[in-house]
Amino acid sequence: MKVIRVHEFGGPEVLKLEEVPDPQPGPGQVLIRVHAAGVNPVEAYVRTGTYAFKPSLPYTPGADGAGVVLKVGPDVRRLKEGDRVFFTATRTGSYAELALCDASKVHLLPENISFEQGAAMGVPYGTAYRGLFIRGDGKPGETVLVHGASGGVGTASLQLARAAGMTVIGTAGTEDGMKLVLHEGAHHALNHSSNGYLDELKNLTGDRGVDLIIELLANKNLANDLSVLAKKGRVAVIGNRGTIEINPRDAMAREADIRGVTLVNTSETEYREMYAALGAGLENGTLKPVVGTRIPLAEARRAHEEIMQPSGAHGKIVLVV
Ligand code: NAP
Repeated sequence: MKVIRVHEFGGPEVLKLEEVPDPQPGPGQVLIRVHAAGVNPVEAYVRTGTYAFKPSLPYTPGADGAGVVLKVGPDVRRLKEGDRVFFTATRTGSYAELALCDASKVHLLPENISFEQGAAMGVPYGTAYRGLFIRGDGKPGETVLVHGASGGVGTASLQLARAAGMTVIGTAGTEDGMKLVLHEGAHHALNHSSNGYLDELKNLTGDRGVDLIIELLANKNLANDLSVLAKKGRVAVIGNRGTIEINPRDAMAREADIRGVTLVNTSETEYREMYAALGAGLENGTLKPVVGTRIPLAEARRAHEEIMQPSGAHGKIVLVV
């Protein structure tokens, strides 16, 4: 099979197209013919070799994808050859023609959802669900600010929060991004590149502040986040690329919480809850992953360049295999 392989850590140029032997499914495993692979920022961090998690070399990047089941291992009953599926946490990397997965991490893809959309599910929707409901304790009737709502995790958060009956405010850095944010479920859109944009939250929440913030760039925003929360408000920190000074008094006065979110900490029970909710959302049409950019597998390098652009996100970047 053809795969993208990394033999040395470094810039996007270390992503090389190569041929390797096809993997074979063992007990509890499934081999999938990949039609599309999701590109997540963490894959660009890992590729540099400076991230907390460092795989042994050589490796194939990618956790998420969608395609068709090619072979099932012994004792797999829930899936069969020919099923349309999406998957996360593949064992062999999703930037590839074939991916070996634990059957428990493979989910049926409804007919109305394309392979490219399926590839946009795993990490973004899992993280959005964890941030909103498992760590953030988001409830119907509450107001949520999705701070960075135009990308993969952001658009997933908008759709999930809107379907759950929350009042949703989303931010983007461009006019196009703001249009997308409104289209994907926000009641209000703000531009995080304009001065004083958070002042509008006073009007939008009747001076109360927001109950929950889904934060995608905490090193820029955490100090301001604490000043726009309602009493007992929570900031779910999902994205961060540096350090920041905050005033703890802002949290004290509101009895506010800063809650870290890391998808890999998901327990098996939480995973089952998450995928029951995501499966239902795909089925009933409230979840429709937004694919903004499609790039051929062989040009994975370009996908890593684009995913690290500071602004201009429009849904998800996927590799088409
Ligand atoms: P993405 O698709 O590239 O989206 C990035 C988002 O950040 C865009 O909406 C972008 O908006 C926004 N942004 C840019 N400047 C901002 C600012 N000043 N304030 C607020 N938002 C700003 O990336 P993603 O897949 O959604 O991931 C977002 C972050 O979450 C990344 O840092 C990623 O590593 C992290 N993440 C963490 C976990 C976890 O387990 N904790 C899991 C998944 C992702 P514009 O482009 O419109 O400016």
